[in-house]
Amino acid sequence: MTEFQVAPSTLYVVSTPIGNLADITQRALDVLAGVDLIACEDTRHTQKLLTAFSIKAKTFSLHDHNERQRQEQISDWLKEGKSIALVSDAGTPLISDPGFHIVKFLKQNDLAVVPVPGACAAITALSVAGLPTDRFAFEGFLPSKSGARQSVLRALENESRTMVFYDAPRRAIDTVKDIVEVLGADRQIVIARELTKTFETIRTDSAAGFVTWLSKDANQLKGEMVLIIEGKRIDPNAISPEIVNTLKILLEELPPKKACAVAAKIYGVKKNTLYDFALSLK
Ligand code: SAM
Repeated sequence: MTEFQVAPSTLYVVSTPIGNLADITQRALDVLAGVDLIACEDTRHTQKLLTAFSIKAKTFSLHDHNERQRQEQISDWLKEGKSIALVSDAGTPLISDPGFHIVKFLKQNDLAVVPVPGACAAITALSVAGLPTDRFAFEGFLPSKSGARQSVLRALENESRTMVFYDAPRRAIDTVKDIVEVLGADRQIVIARELTKTFETIRTDSAAGFVTWLSKDANQLKGEMVLIIEGKRIDPNAISPEIVNTLKILLEELPPKKACAVAAKIYGVKKNTLYDFALSLK
């Protein structure tokens, strides 16, 4: 294998483990060992990671509160030929973590930004949730107050994609109670807690089931968690007012069988259900 060389004038966005240090990638180690500087969400936190891998590096802090003030300085360093790695405390930078403003600024200024992929709690949880992953909505952190949390959930009432949230386990009981209230007791949920760590727990249950289970086991309220909510199931027998309107228009132009086949394709409902309904319109 050829020896790894970092490119000059480049910002590397480097993912780091979300708990298990063995999840660091070889490329992440090469980049962290090779760059001139490492921008850290918290320098003390990243120092522990660097020490674990015997990497000596110059670090500086880059977090939500100084990201914009530091962008000129970082861009000057890159223009001088320096290479810089950006890391957050855990997982992929920019995913509910700092980095968006600096990446946007550097790209607007035609400076090189290179990804070094690795762990991300949302994707890790999704990969074992057993809920549809062909399409999903990442919704970041749920609000900590019940009123605001219920508003967010209400806005997602009709979301049919799998929904992924970050939340604090200490609020988990209140959160699942809000889900019961807004999305219903039967809605399927997956809670993925302490992923890749000693007490990793991944559980699937209904929202109501989680209220009972969490209330019985205080250990489940510790650490970090990803909450995944099943999307709204589309009832193949439901004929909404929108479908009725479309079907009526189609029936003016097409024979009933054809009109129903087209409407069924558009709305993903059963052809026979529509046909019975179309006949009842006569
Ligand atoms: N950028 C990170 C990523 O790529 O996953 C996420 C950072 S965000 C500030 C931290 C949140 O991610 C935690 O509150 C939790 O919801 C989730 N998280 C991080 N590590 C986790 C783990 N090991 N197990 C479960 N959830 C985790």
